[in-house]
Amino acid sequence: MEPILTLADLDNWSFEGTALAVLGHPIKHSISPAMHNTALAEMSETDERFASWRYFRFDVPAEDLPLALDRLNAAGFFGLNLTVPHKVLAFDRIAGIDDRAQPIGAVNTLRRTTAGWHGFNTDGYGLATAVQEDLGINLSNTPIILLGAGGAARGAAVECLQRGCASLHIANRTAANRDKLIAQLQPIKGDIPVNGFSPQEIPADLPTNALVINATSAGLKPEDPLPINLVALPKPCGVFDMIYNPAETKLLAATAAQGIPTANGLSMLIHQGVRALEIWSDATVPVAAMRRAVAAT
Ligand code: NDP
Repeated sequence: MEPILTLADLDNWSFEGTALAVLGHPIKHSISPAMHNTALAEMSETDERFASWRYFRFDVPAEDLPLALDRLNAAGFFGLNLTVPHKVLAFDRIAGIDDRAQPIGAVNTLRRTTAGWHGFNTDGYGLATAVQEDLGINLSNTPIILLGAGGAARGAAVECLQRGCASLHIANRTAANRDKLIAQLQPIKGDIPVNGFSPQEIPADLPTNALVINATSAGLKPEDPLPINLVALPKPCGVFDMIYNPAETKLLAATAAQGIPTANGLSMLIHQGVRALEIWSDATVPVAAMRRAVAAT
């Protein structure tokens, strides 16, 4: 297990290999170090340049992010992952943003360039790959019912639109947040229909065979309410819950009881990590090794 580092550990930084790290607050539950270091160990068996790569973790509160980005750059770090609360905060503080991350307004992967940090968002790739792998559903041409309007929902909405979903219906507890997200999607929606509804008032004209994606945090705690009453929806082709701990939320249990295919957010977590390591390494990343590392935590 990688120790939890803070910026003070950079005062006498002496690591000479290629350093990667995840920054977050809190950071103690992150399984990214185990996932990446296991993959790097396997990659080094066939390419010795990866023998000197190592992935660290830093506890960085929100207010220290600008300092952390400067200090990690100066210390020679090559790649960073960002998690809560830094994904949106970093967006306006880095030298460049990947075109596909631009409409998301958040970045989770940074690569060092001569100009400074260049930002990417690999969560959408993780979602699309997991939905394909676990449910056999391609986001292209599929009607989507998206629950939530926070950061993860925004990333999911952008990915669904960029991949040409058939339609996008967004439900969220707070109508103002839902409407704000729908307004933000206007410039990239093209001719794909994008509509909102309240989870308490399910409209009659929702599509059948839609993929339901839960991007709310309802389900993280046992006492959380269901984000939607599934029986009130036309039968979906599958339900994907971004939550992976617990492995089966109340929503997924209710879905499985109706015989509808389900998947939790574990494969999404793994594939966003795979894509990040591909961005840093320009090499093929062993997905199975990452999956093994996650299963062992
Ligand atoms: P945010 O805090 O940005 O958004 C939270 C969303 O959940 C809002 O839409 C909020 O609605 C809604 N919500 C919160 N509590 C409830 C409730 N009790 N009932 C109904 N809706 C509720 O969080 P994120 O978008 O960053 O994360 C959302 C979820 O996605 C988390 O569970 C996170 O763990 C997961 N996630 C998983 C990833 C993966 O790799 N598997 C990657 C990223 C996120 P409102 O607007 O009304 O407040």
